[in-house]
Amino acid sequence: MAEFYAPGEPLPLIPDDLTVSQFILDAHHPARPAQKRLMPWLIEDATGRGIGYEELRTRTFGLANEFKSRWNVGDNDVVCLYSPNHVDWPVVLWATHRLGAVVAPVNPAYTAEELIHALTLTEASVLVASSANLSVAVIAAQAAGIPLEKIVTIDSPLSPNAAQLSVEELICHGLSTPLSFNERRLLSGEGKTKLAFLCFSSGTTGKPKAVAVSHYAMIANILQVRAAIMSSPRYEVGDVVHGVLPFFHVFGLVVMLHSHLWFGNTVVVVPKFTFEGFLTSIQRYRIKHLHIVPPMVVLLVKHPLTRKYDLTSVRWLMSGAAPLSAELTMHLAKILPQCSIGQGYGMTETFTTIALSPNDSKIAAPGSGGVLIPGVVARVLKTDGSLAAEGETGELVVTGPSMALGYYKNPEATKETFVNGWVRTGDEVVINGKCEVFIKDRIKEILKVKGFQVAPAELEGHLLDHPDVADVCVVGVPDDYSGELPLAFVVPSESARARIQQNPRESEHLKATLVKHVADAKVEYKRLAGGVEFVDAIPKNPSGKMLRRVLRDQARAMKARM
Ligand code: AMP
Repeated sequence: MAEFYAPGEPLPLIPDDLTVSQFILDAHHPARPAQKRLMPWLIEDATGRGIGYEELRTRTFGLANEFKSRWNVGDNDVVCLYSPNHVDWPVVLWATHRLGAVVAPVNPAYTAEELIHALTLTEASVLVASSANLSVAVIAAQAAGIPLEKIVTIDSPLSPNAAQLSVEELICHGLSTPLSFNERRLLSGEGKTKLAFLCFSSGTTGKPKAVAVSHYAMIANILQVRAAIMSSPRYEVGDVVHGVLPFFHVFGLVVMLHSHLWFGNTVVVVPKFTFEGFLTSIQRYRIKHLHIVPPMVVLLVKHPLTRKYDLTSVRWLMSGAAPLSAELTMHLAKILPQCSIGQGYGMTETFTTIALSPNDSKIAAPGSGGVLIPGVVARVLKTDGSLAAEGETGELVVTGPSMALGYYKNPEATKETFVNGWVRTGDEVVINGKCEVFIKDRIKEILKVKGFQVAPAELEGHLLDHPDVADVCVVGVPDDYSGELPLAFVVPSESARARIQQNPRESEHLKATLVKHVADAKVEYKRLAGGVEFVDAIPKNPSGKMLRRVLRDQARAMKARM
């Protein structure tokens, strides 16, 4: 039986009796014993203000105290974090964990409809928003039955709305009142099943689901990555990391934020990506580590502004969340000649990294998502169900200490993706003799737009609600900047068809209407930027399953002809 075992350092003991909060704030950090208290852990990008260990820990206690005394937040209650990156973002997370409660991080750009889905699914009882999305938060909280006073704003000293309080106000109050909570301590082994996060992902099929993740999974992944890079000069205590990826996504949450804090680095916290701001802070803070997604690489390579900034401090660049082409990698190497350019590969369900570019490579091999990291075991499943050997193609199936527990309250979907401790990735790969993973294709339904997941089933469900749509299939069309863009093949309803026959201009009008129908309800990257195409029928197999690949190939061919 062909199984691929990650090479390299053996894993250290993974604590199974600590919460993430205790691991990061209380446990002994081998990487930064003495400096732990002195260096800033976070830097606020706009102001340059550094926030150190003592301040973060104190704020975490203050907030936990207030969460408990004000709202009795406790074991397994869910706090939804609906905010852009902010220096208090991890404070909210760690305070929640101190109480044994669970964090549900969601995209701060979600529309009310998307947020309602997240709040309802996770049964969140507290919602942390920002002043920019507060009005959407209020609509969604009302629909989900969350009292308005339990919406908290993270980014202003005083809440912009009299009905709500700010995180700052809660912390100040929590620090000025007697301690009301008992820290949630875990029994030996309990960390493996104690819920820490509910993160959103569509998995291999269907609509977005909440991935249930234990404290142990996150701690394990941090230690696995550390074991993978330990023998290299890749990280030195005090390195500065660009914190531009969103904290709500696993790449930002686990790799960019928590792993680096554990390694003893300083994270510059950036609330929103703008290219000029990105270059400015690299230069200003002498950033050494960049974690980015392919569209940012496109900008670095193509945008004239790149050459106006001093980027010589950047030594390690890791791209992830979506494929990075060989061409872009080669172009980037010319722009950042002093820098090692690699890739990380993983997914929400494997919380997070499974493979990482090796320490000794200057440039990642084309198409390589990296080498399996310690603790990961992989199988490659061929279409006939047998296991592939080295160099053979098939679906990647993995196991290791960081795997998620399953989909929250969704046993059916859990059964499909989480099989006897193994996770089906839905990615088609080849693994070579060095345990290097080459990602060939995505077999699963999801699209990756700018590194974000888009679930065709979610858009199809929404489009089917429109009276002019009889049937629909959403696929991705390749795009140089975004990776891919959603395109809807639509079978118009009989009445819509009749209107189009009477007046050919109605066709363009209906397409624009459907694009707007999605844009009005969904976050920006889910919009039908690939367009709408009318077809007579959606191809299906005899049992009625959509033949997505047929339409995907058709969309790719259309794009190639353009
Ligand atoms: P997510 O759960 O949002 O992180 O999405 C995980 C999926 O993103 C994986 O299953 C892959 O399809 C894709 N992905 C992540 N990293 C890479 C990479 N380095 N190269 C290609 N695809 C990737």
